[in-house]
Amino acid sequence: YYNSETVLWLNGEFVKASEAKMDFYSQSLHYGYAVFEGIRSYKTASGETKIFKAEEHYDRLRNSALSMNMPYTWSNEELIEATYEVLRRNNFQDAYIRPVVYAPMNMSFVQNEVSYIFIEVWEMAPFFGDKLLRIMTSSFQRPNPKAFKITAKASGHYVNSILASQEAKTKGYDEALLTDMNGFAAEGVGANFFYEKDGKLFTPATGNILPGITRATVLELCNELGIEVEEKQITLDEINEADAAFFCGTAAEVIGWESFNDVKFKKNWKETASRKIQQAYLARVTEAEVLTEVIAE
Ligand code: PMP
Repeated sequence: YYNSETVLWLNGEFVKASEAKMDFYSQSLHYGYAVFEGIRSYKTASGETKIFKAEEHYDRLRNSALSMNMPYTWSNEELIEATYEVLRRNNFQDAYIRPVVYAPMNMSFVQNEVSYIFIEVWEMAPFFGDKLLRIMTSSFQRPNPKAFKITAKASGHYVNSILASQEAKTKGYDEALLTDMNGFAAEGVGANFFYEKDGKLFTPATGNILPGITRATVLELCNELGIEVEEKQITLDEINEADAAFFCGTAAEVIGWESFNDVKFKKNWKETASRKIQQAYLARVTEAEVLTEVIAE
């Protein structure tokens, strides 16, 4: 993720990653009490570097921090400017951007008076392939919304994601689908999910999921392309009957599934509405001009 030259932004200063210091007595390190974002920048069709939906991501970072009772003193403008500068100093265009807000030590659990922040970047090429994922149902469920503020991107929540992903990979799958506490399909470890049936898309309604920014983009694209889409409670049996399915998230972008619990989807991915969404998404993030041409190909 970094080498001796990598630069990050730490509480207002640009510092070498290899020289950056963090407090070993941090509450965030001990308890996972931190919030973060996963953002991407793309080399767009014009050659310019653009951060996709930067405002939405930094709005969510603020909301995550405030919902965790962490002070948040930064403006989107300041953070977006710092992010572009970190990209420039590392000479990255296609990159993953990781801001983290963290807290000093506090064993009494009174409200913190101060938070800290850093922004890291690493290179990540956009995904243009037709690779399809082998997915299993995780034995881990997503955190109960009554136990956690699940719409916040809080670091501690991701222990659940790590366990689920490790389980899937150990068993020979690419990734896991997790259910919610009632056994309905919820989301992946770091991505939302859609399935397709007879040309129509379905995705879990909000409430027990992280309502992703990519999920919102997919809903927008469905609207623009005239693809019918419904948000609802989804059973695992419905996925077994589906023509196709995909994960979507900032890092994952839109990526199709080959199989669900070893059962292959019958429809050829290349003939699905889901693939049109995948291509439209890539056109959107890279600001490729002729969306309809991408779709018609
Ligand atoms: N669900 C979870 C649990 C996630 O961690 C992510 C990644 N942030 C998503 C969904 C997708 O969110 P987004 O599209 O905003 O990246």
